[in-house]
Amino acid sequence: MPRFRSILETMAPYKPGKSVVSPDGRSYKLSSNESPHEPLPSVIEAIARAATEINRYPDPGAVRLTEALAERFDVPAEHIALGAGSVAVAQQVLEAVGEPGAEVVYAWRSFEAYPLLVDLSGATSVQVPLKDETHDLDAMAEAITPQTRLVFVCNPNNPTGTVNRTAELRRFLDRVPENVLVVLDEAYREYIRDEDVPDGLDFYRERGNVAVLRTFSKAYGLAGLRVGYLIGHEPVAEAVRKTLLPFAVNHIAQAAAIASLAAEDELYGRVETVVKERARVLEALAAQGWTVPSTEANFVWLRLGDRTMEFAERCAALGVAVRPFAGEGARISIGDTESNDTFLTAASAFLT
Ligand SMILES: *Cc1c(COP(=O)(O)O)cnc(C)c1O
Repeated sequence: MPRFRSILETMAPYKPGKSVVSPDGRSYKLSSNESPHEPLPSVIEAIARAATEINRYPDPGAVRLTEALAERFDVPAEHIALGAGSVAVAQQVLEAVGEPGAEVVYAWRSFEAYPLLVDLSGATSVQVPLKDETHDLDAMAEAITPQTRLVFVCNPNNPTGTVNRTAELRRFLDRVPENVLVVLDEAYREYIRDEDVPDGLDFYRERGNVAVLRTFSKAYGLAGLRVGYLIGHEPVAEAVRKTLLPFAVNHIAQAAAIASLAAEDELYGRVETVVKERARVLEALAAQGWTVPSTEANFVWLRLGDRTMEFAERCAALGVAVRPFAGEGARISIGDTESNDTFLTAASAFLT
């Protein structure tokens, strides 16, 4: 029998959001926070053009995409590190800092991938419970020890949608030693409308130990192509580039990401329709009698406790796939109007 690392025995596998089909054949996928919109014609065109060149390896340094990002965010190209989705970039960060004895602090419940990737890196997870469904930054600062190498701050938090605001984040960062890297995971940045939520890049510009993680998977609608990136100071970005698998970001993904940056206005128009739908869904849930944490992301969180799996089944019966966390609650993405209406029908029926 081949021998494996012992961590594989205890590691929880990543559970992706599922699709479900109702008995009458309907299917609404609200389980993975994807964009409900189909790709823009200009992006499809760029993909088609790039497809004619896939007999060649992709540009390993993704020079054009890196330059486009550098220009877009007004940062040096050397401060950018790409990966095959921001999950992969998070893994690259952990490969760069993780080893037995090293500690990684993050809130819990937060992004599913953190515990998995920390385990794989050989480091130890230090999970700090949410307070009022939100990162408890004081407790997170207190959880930092001399062994801490990295802190993830997921803002807005997945799966609760809650945010941490500028003043408390600054206070928190002031308490983090300079030799501890803070990664602000801003996968849902484009959906934030609360003006008191900081752009993580402002903190990165002020502090050498702060980096920002972003993705093309959510607002930019490229979940299927896998492109994410980190913006951080040179030692950080360089470490993350070193841990990139050769050619991990493929040629079509690079081309689509460049085309998406060029079509940002159009994409932001779509984000705005999701934000409007979010307000409508929140209002309807409140009118039904639900208590929902205020969300700045493209999903809502229902704390359902023991009834979580029952709720997910009731939604599935109408063809609505949600993301349940057994015993805790369910995360429901904001989709198109019909999907949201079907979810609201299920939510209302659950309460009666
Ligand atoms: C969806 C998500 C990501 C992005 O994942 P990709 O690998 O870029 O598709 C990263 N962080 C969080 C918190 C997310 O919810």
